Amino acid sequence: MAYRLEAEAATLGPSKKHCFACAAILDVRAELCPKCGVRQPVMPGAITVVPVTAVAPSTRSKTSAGLFALLLGGIGVHKFYLGQTAAGVMYLLFCWTLIPSLIAFIEALVLFGMSDDAFARKYPG
Ligand SMILES: [Zn+2]
Repeated sequence: MAYRLEAEAATLGPSKKHCFACAAILDVRAELCPKCGVRQPVMPGAITVVPVTAVAPSTRSKTSAGLFALLLGGIGVHKFYLGQTAAGVMYLLFCWTLIPSLIAFIEALVLFGMSDDAFARKYPG
């Protein structure tokens, strides 16, 4: 028995695999074992190479966010736009100090300098 399994393993080619349940030799793409009918577990890399998932483009526009920050950033419009409501409220509360305007100006520069990919990662959805 042990010898038989060793012999099978030795003849196992790169496109073959052993049945998860009965150790019969199957094609790597086989989903069901023809011998015992057991569904084979998905082997990472053996069947499908999962493509590197691209970052889904943000539904928000980087340009809009940048323009909001530049023109209306002092009252936190870009923060509301980017879904950071709490931050937006802080900007509104402190807009009279003009500090939010200063921060928003810097954020506008950061937004304009950011790649679309980085933007989508930072502000998903
Ligand atoms: Zn089997």
